[in-house]
Amino acid sequence: MNPKENKRDLWKEVDGNEYQVHVTISTIGSTTESAEEIDDRIVYMEDLEKRKQIYGICGECNEPGTGKRWCQPCNAKRFKDNFKNWTSGNKDIDEFIQQSQLNAVYFKKYLEWIPFEKFKDITYITRGGFGKIYSAKWPEGYIESWDIKNQKWERCSIKVALKSLDNSSCMCTEFLNEIKSHLQVYLLDVIRCYGITQDPNTKDYMMILTYCKDGNLRNYYLNNKSSYYSKIDKLRQIARGLLDIHNAGKVHKDFHSGNILHNIHL
Ligand SMILES: [Zn+2]
Repeated sequence: MNPKENKRDLWKEVDGNEYQVHVTISTIGSTTESAEEIDDRIVYMEDLEKRKQIYGICGECNEPGTGKRWCQPCNAKRFKDNFKNWTSGNKDIDEFIQQSQLNAVYFKKYLEWIPFEKFKDITYITRGGFGKIYSAKWPEGYIESWDIKNQKWERCSIKVALKSLDNSSCMCTEFLNEIKSHLQVYLLDVIRCYGITQDPNTKDYMMILTYCKDGNLRNYYLNNKSSYYSKIDKLRQIARGLLDIHNAGKVHKDFHSGNILHNIHL
């Protein structure tokens, strides 16, 4: 009998309002530790029972999940087996992406190297102080989970924003630090970074980010009528996003309506 035949999907549905969608790895000396301990939404890495109860178990290794439909040890191995099949051409970026893949406890926590030709309909949107932003279609899309029945990644096609930093081909640490801060916050309402690509013409590296069709919050409210309730809900999301950033021990530093990306149907 083929051992694969017995494998099935044993994940549980996770209510993101009731529990965090991935585990928290507790850090010694964290200033927010006492506040975290009384928050029942948090699922700690070492709490195997709770992990099993909230996320279910991995159909491959029969251990409790580390996040919604995610097994960190199994997926780390899959990513590692694929290291030989890609390179960004830059050692620091390669190691950065590899580390994120080995450590990811949830699908929103890894980065991928995506060759530029994977993107379609690349359209220039705007230019900021840092570089240019484009929109693009990504037909193949990001990895959401491991498809245990078909033994392949389950991917989700999306539209993305590609954000370049001028002269990032010489790889300023600023670029990697910005991506790092995207990964460290507990992501629910904060824009996600899917990975890195490179413009073949300018050789600039680019961040692959969630595309927000309405642009920033200031533009949205200048151009659209909005109900009182939707404004309150938006404020709630922003406050939640900020809390997630602060819980990760970070500050936004440039917080205003022009900087908050808006998307109703995220
Ligand atoms: Zn597993």
